[in-house]
Amino acid sequence: MSSRAIPPPIPTFEQARHVVEQHAAGMHASEKQFVELLEAATRVLAEPVVADRNFPPFARATRDGYAVRAADLARLPASLKVVGEIKAGTAASPSLHLQLGQAAAIMTGAPAPPGADAVVMVEYTSETGGMVEIAKGVSPGENIVPAGAEAQRGSRLLAAGIRLDHAAIAVAASAGKTHLQVYAKPRVAVLATGDEIVELEVLPGPTQIRNSNSYSLAAQIQAASGEPVLLPVAADEPNHLRELISEGLEADLLLLTGGVSMGKHDLVEQVLAELGAEFFFTGALIRPGRPIVFGRVARAAESGRASIAAPKHTYFFGLPGNPVSTMVTFELFVRPVLDALCGMTPRKLVFLYAKLKTEIRTKTGLKRFLPAVLSGEFEQAEVELVPWQGSGDIVATARANCYIVVPADRERLPAGEWVAVLKG
Ligand code: AMP
Ligand code: MG
Repeated sequence: MSSRAIPPPIPTFEQARHVVEQHAAGMHASEKQFVELLEAATRVLAEPVVADRNFPPFARATRDGYAVRAADLARLPASLKVVGEIKAGTAASPSLHLQLGQAAAIMTGAPAPPGADAVVMVEYTSETGGMVEIAKGVSPGENIVPAGAEAQRGSRLLAAGIRLDHAAIAVAASAGKTHLQVYAKPRVAVLATGDEIVELEVLPGPTQIRNSNSYSLAAQIQAASGEPVLLPVAADEPNHLRELISEGLEADLLLLTGGVSMGKHDLVEQVLAELGAEFFFTGALIRPGRPIVFGRVARAAESGRASIAAPKHTYFFGLPGNPVSTMVTFELFVRPVLDALCGMTPRKLVFLYAKLKTEIRTKTGLKRFLPAVLSGEFEQAEVELVPWQGSGDIVATARANCYIVVPADRERLPAGEWVAVLKG
């Protein structure tokens, strides 16, 4: 055994999560790279995007109808002279300046002519013989967005550090960006451990188990914009483990699975301690996932990479080997670190609420994240547990689409209660 000080008390889920978030806040993002606009989708923006023109670039009509002077509609119905027609994409004739008693037919997305201060919707009008009769008044400004009201030329549209979702991509496209600077994907080493674990290419013996954790983790890493680097399976043997852990520590983040429980052959913590690891917690009051380990190892000073921004540590997680524990603890703890390494402020965990279909009974003491199926429609979200054989049951988990969160102090959640749900 390593000679570490008396272990601190096991943190609650919230305490452990905060420890991770605090470390994530101090982490450096990876390098920047230029990519094509669509390749940037789901990546993290590394440069601000600035408006190259006003948004909108002209006073834009938001309705089909007639551009008017609102004051002309003080008495209704009003009859105005139609002096022009303005389509989207075509400028009004330069001489068109709306005078008292005049209106111009206008289409959605077209520039409002000078002199007009509102647009009346076509539904309230009827045009005959060059005159339009208007049955409803408008207030000044109605149905016109002034030039620059959404954003002024030169102002910041998108800040560095945001994840580029479809709306952000639309903004970048509107600013004429064919390429964007994003952060490189952090490299996340994945190391599965266990004498019984075999690679997919190997026909497993009767007591052997195929390595599924490396693949679920790789898929989760990819979904979080990381680059998984799969290492070979490590045997429960210190020298082999040390060699592969050392290799994994060269990545931006190392995820280990298995070998962190209290078993005689659970050597992961011991080997990490020998490599000089600093541990922030070695367990949390959750299930599945109680044995989770979080820490870091100092990086050797690299001569070739002398930049001041080079990280001083490689962080690691020792995730419990039970496949469902591995999946849940990734979502609960690894994601904020990966977000930070991607260059963004880690997203908060957000739970939604759904009505429990069938009662749940558990023991108190640990916060539980139990695989469940979320169904129902519109505002009537319903949820129920999937029947499972515990945290090794990947088949049941694959049928689930969320986790029900059971507080540590609850023994029974009755059917009909609104319960917290974590989307997987
Ligand atoms: P451990 O955390 O090493 O005690 O492993 C707990 C359980 O998870 C055992 O039943 C292992 O066989 C299983 N397990 C560990 N690693 C993997 C893996 N990479 N893929 C699938 N199952 C695993
Ligand atoms: Mg094991």
